[in-house]
Amino acid sequence: MDHAAQAADPHAEIRVEVTKLCARFPGEYWRQVDRDRQYPTSFVQALTEAGYLGALIPEEFGGAGLPLSAAAAILEEIHRSGGNAGACHAQMYIMGTILRHGSAEQKKRYLPKIASGELRLQAFGVTEPTSGTDTTALRTVARREGDNYIVNGQKIWTSRAEHSDLMLLLARTTPRDQVAKKTDGLSTFIVDMKAALGNGLTIRPIRTMMNHNTTEVFFDNMVVPAANLVGQEGRGFRYILDGMNAERLLIASESIGDAKWFIKKAVDYSKERVLFGRPIGQNQGVQFPIARAYAQMRAAEALLLLGLGKFENGENCGEEANMGKMLAADAAWAAGEACIQTHGGFGFAEEYDIERKYREARLYQVAPISTNLVLSYIGEHVLGMPRSY
Ligand SMILES: Cc1cc2nc3c(=O)[nH]c(=O)nc-3n(C[C@H](O)[C@H](O)[C@H](O)COP(=O)(O)OP(=O)(O)OC[C@H]3O[C@@H](n4cnc5c(N)ncnc54)[C@H](O)[C@@H]3O)c2cc1C
Repeated sequence: MDHAAQAADPHAEIRVEVTKLCARFPGEYWRQVDRDRQYPTSFVQALTEAGYLGALIPEEFGGAGLPLSAAAAILEEIHRSGGNAGACHAQMYIMGTILRHGSAEQKKRYLPKIASGELRLQAFGVTEPTSGTDTTALRTVARREGDNYIVNGQKIWTSRAEHSDLMLLLARTTPRDQVAKKTDGLSTFIVDMKAALGNGLTIRPIRTMMNHNTTEVFFDNMVVPAANLVGQEGRGFRYILDGMNAERLLIASESIGDAKWFIKKAVDYSKERVLFGRPIGQNQGVQFPIARAYAQMRAAEALLLLGLGKFENGENCGEEANMGKMLAADAAWAAGEACIQTHGGFGFAEEYDIERKYREARLYQVAPISTNLVLSYIGEHVLGMPRSY
C-alpha cells in the first residue's frame, strides 16, 4: 500500500520527499556500508541537510518543530525504502531529554547546533554489561568534585559512539543503598565526547550481526562539567523514562517500514516468478504467509497511530507504545520470513537486500526493550497482575 497516496495522511508530502531522498541511496549503497561495517555518513548528512534529523526540535532552536508523527513518518519511509535509520534515529528522541529537562543555557548551547548538524547527539549511554535491562542496578558512578563530576564505569551497546559529538549518559550519583527508591540517585549528563576521547573516555567497536556501529565505552576518571548535568541531580532515571514512549513509537514506525518493504518485495516477486506454468504467488502456500504478515502489519500500524495521537495530545500512551513496538517488530519479522521464503534461494543472495533487511529487522525484538519486558509491562501496568521482577 502506498501511504504517500493517502489523502488523509497529514505527512504525505514528507513521505514523498523522504522517499525521493532515499532513492539517492539505493540497495548498492546499503550493501556496501553493511559489507564494510561503515557508518552511512553521506546518507546521514543528506538527512541532516534536509532538516529531517531536527524534525522534532522546536523552531525557536532552529528545528522544524514537527510533531512525533512526522518523525515516525520519516523513519518509516527510510525503512520502507530499504534503508536503515539505526545510524541516526536516536538523535530524534534523545534530544527530547534536553528539551524537556535541560537548562535554558543547555538548550541554547546545544539544540541549534544539533538542528543544523554541526553537532551530532547520537550516543545514548544507558545499558551496562552487568545490569542490562535492570537499569537501576547500573554501576557507572559520577562523583561531584567542585565544578565537575568524575565519571568511572562502563557502558555497552552504545551505538554510534564513534560518530557522535555528544552522549547522553545515565550514571549513579548516590549509591543504591543510600536512596529511598532504587530509581532515585541516578543522573543524566551531556558528555562532550570529542573532548573526553583519550581523556578518560575509551570507545571499542563491537562487530554485530548487522551494521549498527555499536560500541562499548569505558570511563576512567572522565571529567564532566557540573554545568552538563541535565535537570536535577538524582532524577535522571525519570528523565530517561520520559523519552521511552517516544522512542518505542519511533522504533515501531521503523519496523512498520521494514514490514512494508518485505511485503512489497515478496508480492512483486511472487507475481514475476513463474514455475509449473504459473506465478508462484498463485499458490496459497506462498500467498497466505504474505497476506498474514500484511494483516499483522496493519494491526500494529493502527495501534501505532493511536499511540502517536495520544502522545501528541499529552495523554499517557504507555500501553500503545509498548504494544505497538512489540507487534510492529513481530510483523516485520513475519514479513521478513514470508519474503525470504517466497524468494527461495535468491532470498539468501546479498544482491537482493533481503538477507540484510532480515538481519536488521531482528534487532527490534530485543532493543531498545525486549519483548519479555513489554509483556511484563502489559501484565503489570495494563492488566493489573503482580509485578514479576
Ligand atoms: C545493536 C544494539 C544496539 C543497542 N543500542 C543501544 C544504545 O545505543 N544505548 C543503550 O543504552 N543500549 C543499547 N542497546 C542495548 C539494548 O537496549 C539491550 O540489549 C536490551 O535492552 C536488552 O538488554 P540486555 O542485552 O542486557 O539483555 P538482558 O537484560 O541481559 O536480558 C536477556 C534476556 O532475558 C530476558 N529477561 C531479562 N529480565 C527478564 C525478566 N524479568 N522477565 C522475563 N525476561 C527477562 C530479556 O527479555 C532478554 O531476552 C543496544 C543493543 C543492541 C543489540
